Amino acid sequence: MFAKGQNIIQMMEELAPKHYAVPDDKIGLQLGTLNKEITNVLVALDVTDEVVDEAIRLKANLIIAHHAIIFRPLAHLQTDSPAGRLYEKLIKNDIAVYIAHTNLDVAEGGVNDLMADALGLNGLSPLEDIHTDKLKKLVVFIPEDHLDKVRQALFQAGAGWIGHYSHCSFNIAGTGTFVPEEGSDPFIGKQGKLEEVREVRLETIIPQSIERKAIQAMLKAHPYEEVAYDLYHLDLKGRTFGLGRVGKLDDSITLQQLCEQVKQAYEVPTVRLVGDPNRSVRKIAVLGGSGSRYVRHALFAGADVLITGDIDYHTAHDALAAGLALIDPGHNVEKIMKQSVTGYLQKKLQDKKSDTQVFASVINTEPFQFV
Ligand SMILES: [Zn+2]
Repeated sequence: MFAKGQNIIQMMEELAPKHYAVPDDKIGLQLGTLNKEITNVLVALDVTDEVVDEAIRLKANLIIAHHAIIFRPLAHLQTDSPAGRLYEKLIKNDIAVYIAHTNLDVAEGGVNDLMADALGLNGLSPLEDIHTDKLKKLVVFIPEDHLDKVRQALFQAGAGWIGHYSHCSFNIAGTGTFVPEEGSDPFIGKQGKLEEVREVRLETIIPQSIERKAIQAMLKAHPYEEVAYDLYHLDLKGRTFGLGRVGKLDDSITLQQLCEQVKQAYEVPTVRLVGDPNRSVRKIAVLGGSGSRYVRHALFAGADVLITGDIDYHTAHDALAAGLALIDPGHNVEKIMKQSVTGYLQKKLQDKKSDTQVFASVINTEPFQFV
């Protein structure tokens, strides 16, 4: 069976929740419908004419891309312009386009984590905070013999973390009462008869970002037809997510050596360097895409060097004067998301025994030539 578009996007939004995106970012479904069966998915950095041809060849009717295809409200849709032709081709071939942009940059395991991991950076934190998870308290009443099953389901879904401690819960035994009324199909007891059951009140913590997933897992593992549970708002904050990453290399290396590592890790032929190539560096900031405005964030974080794309002349001068080295490997290094998102969705779909296939685009969308 093929997966529905909505189900695939639900998987995507578990990886990169929409509320991680910066305000006004163009994300989500941009063209077509998700209300259909998806035969094949193509994961791309940019949606170019060649990428659409690739989707047609692969019989993909959903493209998941990092960069938006519609940036501002359309005044017209003329199909003799390059953009209009692209939209026409997508619509005629029934290909939907879904965008995960800054929400995928921010996400755990997203573009910025991938870039940091590829260089072997440790002790990562965001360069700019975007979203702090709110925490909620879940209280659920469980018959004693099902306590372990329900608790494990919650922990597996990501509930029960306090700082660096996992599996946090509190459990109090007591007595639950209920009368199964007409129309019920009780797991314990009979219709019309008052039941007294030994139950455990389980309390645990849930970050808001996984609330739906955790509640679904709890309800699935719970034996009752109608589960009694409470969800409380708390005045506590959980983890902070953000754009860019700053972390440390195991050992100091020269800026020249770091340039070589960057070229290898991000598969780019050249980089632009600002700073003394012989300078020793260890604390590294990375940010996929255009990071010119993050020079002050990198300085504030105490980084020796900022690795980002689209650096302009004056920013380079400012960084040089402030003692921050810059490495610009280009904007296209964000292609690192293709394999990773493809692998993530493939695994999710295999777990569901779906026939939908996922492909990473092999089209190189780097507009620059290095001559
Ligand atoms: Zn980008």
